Amino acid sequence: MLRRTFCNAALAAAVAAALPGCGSESKTDFGSRISAISSTGEELSIESAAVSELAGSLDGRVLLQGDQGYAAAKRIWNGMFDSKQPAMVVQCLSTGDVVNAVNFGRERDLLLSVKCGGHSFPGKSTSDGGMMIDLSQMHSVDVDPQAMSMRADGGSLLGHLDVASTAHKLMTTTGMVSHTGVGGFTLGGGVGRTDRKMGLAIDNLLAATVVTAAGDVVRASENENSDLFWGLRGGGGNFGIATEFVYRLHPFNPMVYGGSLIYAVDKDFLEFFAELHETLPVEANIEPQLAPGVGDNGETMAIVGVTWCGDHAAGEKALAPMLAFPGLKSGELAPFAYHDIQTGADGFLGHGKQYYLKSGFLNELTPDAIDVIVEYANRGAVSSWFQHMGGVTATVAADATAFTHRGAAFNFGVMYVGDDPAENEVKIAAVREYYKEMEPHMAGFYNNLNEESEQKTWGNYGPNYPRLVQLKNKYDPGNLFRLNANIKPS
Ligand SMILES: Cc1cc2nc3c(=O)[nH]c(=O)nc-3n(C[C@H](O)[C@H](O)[C@H](O)COP(=O)(O)OP(=O)(O)OC[C@H]3O[C@@H](n4cnc5c(N)ncnc54)[C@H](O)[C@@H]3O)c2cc1C
Repeated sequence: MLRRTFCNAALAAAVAAALPGCGSESKTDFGSRISAISSTGEELSIESAAVSELAGSLDGRVLLQGDQGYAAAKRIWNGMFDSKQPAMVVQCLSTGDVVNAVNFGRERDLLLSVKCGGHSFPGKSTSDGGMMIDLSQMHSVDVDPQAMSMRADGGSLLGHLDVASTAHKLMTTTGMVSHTGVGGFTLGGGVGRTDRKMGLAIDNLLAATVVTAAGDVVRASENENSDLFWGLRGGGGNFGIATEFVYRLHPFNPMVYGGSLIYAVDKDFLEFFAELHETLPVEANIEPQLAPGVGDNGETMAIVGVTWCGDHAAGEKALAPMLAFPGLKSGELAPFAYHDIQTGADGFLGHGKQYYLKSGFLNELTPDAIDVIVEYANRGAVSSWFQHMGGVTATVAADATAFTHRGAAFNFGVMYVGDDPAENEVKIAAVREYYKEMEPHMAGFYNNLNEESEQKTWGNYGPNYPRLVQLKNKYDPGNLFRLNANIKPS
């Protein structure tokens, strides 16, 4: 959009040299102002002296186009957004840095994005011409085994949490891919392999430190700013930037029981899976990935990740029907390191590929939904998957946190993963077609995954929406934090 303008946008050489982030790659065509865009898409011109001042105030650094480190810092996980060029990346090292960046952005009405792990499927953590607040260098994690709690910086990755907590034979719910960021994951809800037993990430959140749109540093917990604490648990990045999270930890044996089992995708298998779900104890997490082209004749197969977080003998007994089911093609269940399954998809779902996803919650797996899934599995154009919910996640009231989808048995996704952008159009259309057929069987969607219209997004917050608007009015009345599943201030 404003590419030409941005190509000329840089600091005067002298100023650039003074900036911590402006290194040897800085370009020669420096002007005294930097082009950017505002929160509403207007062109802005920012004085380079002001950027210099911001940079001087930071423990971290400011990166402009052409600076060493800019290209890596501005990149997010989904390669579909590689061409995005923020006007500046503020790479923060402390809560104070975040305060300074927020104040700078708000005072100039800059379009602001927040990057933690950069895993936003729809690319919300970057922009063309805005200011990216990059938290990725803030990732220290401390475990307090006596208090059974863990403190994590707001730019940590889920893998940092897993490694730190399992070292003490403790765990809290984290997600399926270790390079996902703790920030977006937690604030959206946080679904993971232990959620049926331990609850969602938000159910284990004890406190957070947040920089609000006004630049205030606020502590949120059940006892401090409890209104904000409620909104943070499912309201996403709407109310501020979390620079610290504190989680409850649970006793955990890092050797779990489970494995990977492969079945043909047909009605019998999905009906079996639906029935099994109804009877399984909370320790069990069963997640079929319906992967095209995996069968001997190129057919779609269900690769079922099985994790049992509990006594192994009890797991063997509860999961025995999976091994006895006649449709089983291969695989085994055995004790294995939890770390291995938590990192097992890190490569396949690595940075820089082309990704597109549509997903929604299934409160039950009905015969009609099964028909759709079997049909699209047979077509084999794109993959789909289940994340297992229910258990403890369903025991929390729908209005106890901002995350309202407590009736969900599964999060179901239809996904395209590719390397060639030339295929995107066809594959995106295939994902949309499959999803359109599944949508009538769904009960809302996970705000962390889908990009939908404003109306659909607001409706998806359900009865919690009016309360979320009140919070938005209080903590971000100017809608500074808008690149998210946005709640509009009234
Ligand atoms: C490969 C992959 C696997 C996933 N697996 C799971 C899973 O198992 N379970 C699950 O629940 N979800 C999962 N997700 C979805 C994930 O929760 C969201 O994509 C989430 O937004 C990622 O967080 P992030 O910090 O990496 O994202 P980013 O792209 O860095 O940020 C996304 C948005 O979150 C907000 N944000 C991020 N950090 C902060 C912060 N510290 N303070 C305030 N706002 C912030 C901002 O609004 C930002 O736009 C997965 C996503 C991917 C790509």
